[in-house]
Amino acid sequence: MKEYFRLVRLLKPYRHLLVLSFFLILLFSVCNAASIYLSIPLLKTLFTSSASDVTSIPATGLFNELRHSVDTYIFVGGDKYSALVKVCVLLLAAYFLKNVFAFLQSILTQYVEKSLINDIRRRMFHKFNSLSLRYFNERRSGDIVSRFITDVNAIQNTVYVTFTDIIKQPVLIITFLTLAFLISWKLTLIAIISVPLSMLVIFYLGKKIKKYSIRVQEKLGEFTSVISENIYGGKIIRAFSMEDFENKRFDIKLKDYFRSLIKSAIYVNMNRPITEIVSVALGVFIIWYAGREIFAGGTLAPEEFIGFLLIIFQLMVPVKDLSTVSNRIQESYASAKRIFEIIDAKPEIYDSENAIDKKEFENSIELRDVYFRYNSEDRVILEDINLKIKKHENIAIVGLSGAGKSTLVDLLPRFYDPQIGEILIDGVNTKDISLKSLRNLFGIVTQEIILFNDSIRNNISFGRDDIPISQIVMAAKNANAHDFIELTEDGYDTIIGDRGIRLSGGQKQRIAIARALLKNAPIMILDEATSSLDTESESLIQEAIEKLLQNRTSIIIAHRLSTIRNADRIIVINDGRITASGTHDELMHGSESIYKRLYEMQFG
Ligand code: ATP
Repeated sequence: MKEYFRLVRLLKPYRHLLVLSFFLILLFSVCNAASIYLSIPLLKTLFTSSASDVTSIPATGLFNELRHSVDTYIFVGGDKYSALVKVCVLLLAAYFLKNVFAFLQSILTQYVEKSLINDIRRRMFHKFNSLSLRYFNERRSGDIVSRFITDVNAIQNTVYVTFTDIIKQPVLIITFLTLAFLISWKLTLIAIISVPLSMLVIFYLGKKIKKYSIRVQEKLGEFTSVISENIYGGKIIRAFSMEDFENKRFDIKLKDYFRSLIKSAIYVNMNRPITEIVSVALGVFIIWYAGREIFAGGTLAPEEFIGFLLIIFQLMVPVKDLSTVSNRIQESYASAKRIFEIIDAKPEIYDSENAIDKKEFENSIELRDVYFRYNSEDRVILEDINLKIKKHENIAIVGLSGAGKSTLVDLLPRFYDPQIGEILIDGVNTKDISLKSLRNLFGIVTQEIILFNDSIRNNISFGRDDIPISQIVMAAKNANAHDFIELTEDGYDTIIGDRGIRLSGGQKQRIAIARALLKNAPIMILDEATSSLDTESESLIQEAIEKLLQNRTSIIIAHRLSTIRNADRIIVINDGRITASGTHDELMHGSESIYKRLYEMQFG
């Protein structure tokens, strides 16, 4: 329930609209009650031969006075036909107003509901982008996407339930009960007994529904994950002929999902019939009891009894809806929980209170006694790292796959924080530098090039729309990307497709280099692509990289001979430790063997 109340609290900005909605509910209920009450004078007009008994109603109490005036208006001073016309006009007016109020109220509720959903998605997305990479490592993308779409849709229901059911239904019940009570208090008391009886059944079903709706969302997350893995990994799946395996994996997930859907549907659908059976049993008892009263010539007139029955039948609708409220809240409870998990996630990496803005890089980057592991249970990935890189130095990092090279460079812009040790830029701990200014010091070209489904121009300028096209073209020219961009359909405005699917590997790299060139950051981190390119692309990229590194400090995870040769210093990492450092010649002639082995392995 905690989550439900949190959702309700999120509605605070819309409280004025909700108060208005409440008044519309009240107006609706009054018109609704009036429309049902009018059936009594209607029946009287149709079935009694004279209107003489109208004045016999004692005019005591507000209701009776009101009833008296309505009856006087309808019946006194006219014949049966004019009474019929008056009742019809009143009925029409009551139904018209009731529907107008219902329409306005539901539009208002929908407006609040959709606005809340928008707010929640915005909050989730903004939070999501403030979280560290570790958060994403630990979760599947399909699961996160399904929280954004399915779970958020599921909680729409909560707003509807709150304003249409928790407020509207009780108001309706109270008006109906008051009306029924005024007609016959004995019969009304019997009717009231039905409510707690149905509640017991509903409580039990509610627990089951909660259990299965959590399971349904989990299973949905699992199978959407398989879908997104198959979209991103389409090429590799075909290359390894894994289609059958993936189909089987998907079928199993789908079957699990289906099974939990059906179980959940059984409990959800059991709810209404059971409530109805209990309520109808009591309804039939009332009919029997009232019939006895009328036959005995008691205080109840037949048209009043029919009016009373109509009220009770109408009363069943809000009672039934109200009885399923707790279930519907339970259903969205699971979703709310999954949404708040994102909204409440604590960013691990954030600005310290006294963080300074660091605009320039002046002297050096230093890693001091750094130890790092991804998760507390994981093995240590980096151990005892001590490294100082001076301004304008070009550093190449080499090592076997999985040695920890990418992890090491990820620590510099604080994608992760080391558990032990510190990283200093110009002597200032990176934790004391604002994240934005720290990351502005770095230009990064990752091994797997990340491009967005947008124009080439926007992929190079990357969110900075103040940059003139001339600068973008200049960066593209320096990255040797201009020529191929010109050949595309719409030049710089060409949309490159999901993840740049319409570009070759080498073209993507050159766009990424243009992006880094345009950012013009003083420190460049480059994770060279391992995939081999044809000689022409290779030399185009090499040329672009050279321009990128001019007058900059650079750290390159090197896979190319030329990069290693040109480096001022080569750092060898083995199993998370720096095992050697020096120039190519020094390392080739030194005692450390890994570099020589690596060199021979890669470059023959
Ligand atoms: P490569 O040359 O193959 O890219 P690398 O030297 O850059 O390798 P890293 O990517 O730094 O190696 O990985 C170092 C170790 O950390 C590997 O054993 C890897 O399995 C592990 N690792 C990498 N990323 C994560 C992560 N997000 N969560 C947990 N472990 C990780």
